[in-house]
Amino acid sequence: MRVYNNFDLVNYNSYRVNSKCKKAYFPESEEDVVALYKSTKDFVLLGSGHNTILSKPYYNTSFLVFNGNFNAVAINESENVISAEAGASILEVSETAEKHNLTGVEFYYDIPSSVGGAVVMNAGTKEGETKNILKKVRYLDLTDMLVKEKVNEELGFEYRNSMFQKQNDKIILKAWFQLTQGNRLEIRKIMDESKARRWSKQPREYPNSGSVFKRPPGKFVGPMLDELGLKGFTIGGAQISKKHSGFIVNVDNATGNDILSVIDHVKTKVKEVFNIDLEVEQRII
Ligand SMILES: Cc1cc2nc3c(=O)[nH]c(=O)nc-3n(C[C@H](O)[C@H](O)[C@H](O)COP(=O)(O)OP(=O)(O)OC[C@H]3O[C@@H](n4cnc5c(N)ncnc54)[C@H](O)[C@@H]3O)c2cc1C
Repeated sequence: MRVYNNFDLVNYNSYRVNSKCKKAYFPESEEDVVALYKSTKDFVLLGSGHNTILSKPYYNTSFLVFNGNFNAVAINESENVISAEAGASILEVSETAEKHNLTGVEFYYDIPSSVGGAVVMNAGTKEGETKNILKKVRYLDLTDMLVKEKVNEELGFEYRNSMFQKQNDKIILKAWFQLTQGNRLEIRKIMDESKARRWSKQPREYPNSGSVFKRPPGKFVGPMLDELGLKGFTIGGAQISKKHSGFIVNVDNATGNDILSVIDHVKTKVKEVFNIDLEVEQRII
């Protein structure tokens, strides 16, 4: 397991905010994760950092980073099931499925995420969400330090939400995805078309963390902010994207504070004009 002191987190958060932590651990196995939590529970956990706002320039604490190391992916061909460790990218899950003619997980292809993060957030697009394909999950319960498994129906999935958001004393170790047989060419076509559609609308040219706010019932965030004239609104280096107002982009060395200030301003304006309490989708650390 790799361990670093005074670790630079800039490449581990997709806003590319400059931030450091006292120590960073990169576990490679379930045993590593359990052993670390047995030594202390005082960790900040990052999957691939694509839904996280690092609000501080320095964290006097230890980070656990799953992405890119705790990442084995396997397939059970007779049952059409893919299993993946929490640090695996969901891109790899979708590409493994495609390679084996399995359909159902094409929507993962263009969501930047670790498997653990995707389960926590019930990540999804218009084409599907994690809840539709997750069979079961294995996790470490910090309340009694036991490794447990739960099936889909027990995970409290809602729109961009799961029991793991309400109970952050549960550490996802592995997930199983139930897929079905499909046609490889059609699967590839869905993946490519979805990616092209998304890239044409999203500000991929600047660092960002996807949609900032959850969609309120009956409304879309982007058009609401456009109506308020907030497209391009900037504080420090953080800007409401000129391409898609639902995103905040780092246009010039944004700090976590710049991002949070833009969020506060948007929430205040939306409350004033639409009487809606916007809920932030991203996790603020
Ligand atoms: C360009 C872009 C496009 C995006 N498009 C979409 C989209 O279409 N749909 C969508 O749903 N999201 C989208 N997102 C947001 C993001 O990709 C998802 O929320 C993703 O699931 C976050 O996963 P992550 O591993 O990066 O999570 P992180 O940001 O690393 O973590 C998110 C939260 O999950 C917790 N967590 C992570 N791993 C574990 C674990 N193993 N056990 C317990 N808790 C854990 C963390 O502690 C944190 O609180 C987009 C982001 C970007 C940058």
